[in-house]
Order: sequence, then structure tokens, then C-alpha cells
Amino acid sequence: MVPLDTPSQQSKKQQLIEEPGRPPMYKRGDEGRPGHTPANLRSETPSSALSLGTQEFAMPFVTGFARPTAASVADSNGSHKHDKNVENNKKNIKALEEHKLPKRKDTIPELAASYRSLLKDLGEDPSREGLLKTPERAAKAMLFFTKGYDQTVQDVMNDAVFEEDTEDMVIVKDIEMFSTCEHHLVPFWGKVSVGYLPNKKVMGLSKIARIVEVFSRRLQVQERLTKQIAQAIVEAVQPHGVAVVVEGTHMCMVMRGVQKVSAKTTTSSMLGAFRDDSKTREEFLSFIS
Ligand SMILES: [Zn+2]
Repeated sequence: MVPLDTPSQQSKKQQLIEEPGRPPMYKRGDEGRPGHTPANLRSETPSSALSLGTQEFAMPFVTGFARPTAASVADSNGSHKHDKNVENNKKNIKALEEHKLPKRKDTIPELAASYRSLLKDLGEDPSREGLLKTPERAAKAMLFFTKGYDQTVQDVMNDAVFEEDTEDMVIVKDIEMFSTCEHHLVPFWGKVSVGYLPNKKVMGLSKIARIVEVFSRRLQVQERLTKQIAQAIVEAVQPHGVAVVVEGTHMCMVMRGVQKVSAKTTTSSMLGAFRDDSKTREEFLSFIS
């Protein structure tokens, strides 16, 4: 059994960074950034999970699943081409950020007007003291709840994919998730557990939590959220398989409708080896239960 970050693996990553002429694939500086939760996430990973290799369970290689993408071909052909792609991507991302962020912020006056009108329609007096600043506050809060619209998976990945000669299952469980139900505009929240079987590429563990943020901070339904997280991991590292399980509590069930306070909704998305091989799937489910 190998713990996820043994000193030897740490030094391998370090070598990756320091090797001359190679683009940095794993940035140690990520540790200090918001959204990074290395210590607690890593400790959640059961070390026994890592003994689940393809050898042990003879997990099938899924044809068409782990095919190299254009980006990884460019990577193995030569670093110059890769560097240029990375540069172009960074320029595109910067342009997108510059374009998108002010645009969303600019909607605050209009959103506030909508909330003011909502208050009136509820029979309230928006000019009474307690409600004076409510429309603007509510507008800003709504922008925060939906801030995932400002981000793409490419933004958060930020090249934090690195080569690692491992095919052992990686599991990050109980990632906290807050989202907004698109049918009732009320919150739902819960926990997300993710597992994948690497195919020579792994991603920074904090990036899994960041991907959850990108898709949960939007108007959502839990089923789509689950699928989008799984697909984003496939796109990022082209693994042998991905499993995502989301357990959510929906305020639209708790405060209205059936009013079942303890009712929880579980959704899952199993791709590649997790779909095709019941042993792989069962092992993952036993680790997260
Ligand atoms: Zn709802």
C-alpha cells in the first residue's frame, strides 16, 4: 500500500518541475490559493484504495475512452508546440476573464431592480428601513451563488495535470457542495465523492474540488451536476474510468412540497471501468460509504 504522497512521489513531482526545458505541469504554489484543501482531502483518501490497481482486478482498457487528445499529442511531440498552445490558452482565458467578469458585475443594478419589484409583489414595502439595501444585497448574493458561470474547467485546471506512472485508483470523498435548484431557485447542498483510475496522468487533488465548484455554483439539477463533474475529469486526464456520487439535500423538498427534512437524493455517474467492471465500481462504493 502506498500513501498518496510518499516522499518519493513528492520528489518525482519536484523533478517534473525542475527538469530543464519541460513546461511546469504541477505548480506547488497552488497550495496557498483559495479553494485548495490539500490536508483534509488527502487524509480522506483511504490508503487502501491505492492498492486497487489494474493488475489486481484486471480492469479492462476501455477502447475509445482513454484516447489521447490533441493536447496530449502535442505534449509528447515536442515542448515547443505545447508551450505555444499553453500560451495561446492563457491568452484566451485572460481575454475571457476580462470580458466576462465586468459584464456580470454590471448586472447588479438591474438584478436589484428585479428584487425590489419582487418585494413589492410580495406585498412588502421596499422603502422600509430593514429592506432598503436588501435588493442590492440579494443581487450580489445571487451573483455569488452562480459564480460558476464565470469559470471554465480550463480556468481552474491551469495546467495542473502531471504525468505519473500509476494506474491505482484515486478517491477524494465528501467534498462539500452548495448549489441552487434551477426549478425553484432555492439551495441544495451536500457532498460529492469522486474516484478515477489514472491512465499515466493525474491531476492536482484540489482541482477536483475546484471542478465541483465550477459546476455547482450555477443553476442546477443534481443529475446534471453529477454528470458534468464526471465528464470534466474525463476531459482533463483521460483516465481509464471515472466515478462520481453526489448526495444532496434540497430545500425545495425540505421547506415545501413533501417537507421531508431528512430526505437525501443520491445520484451517480459511472464512466469507463467503473461502468464496465462491477468489482471496480463496488470497491469505489465501499470506500466512500
Ligand atoms: Zn427544486
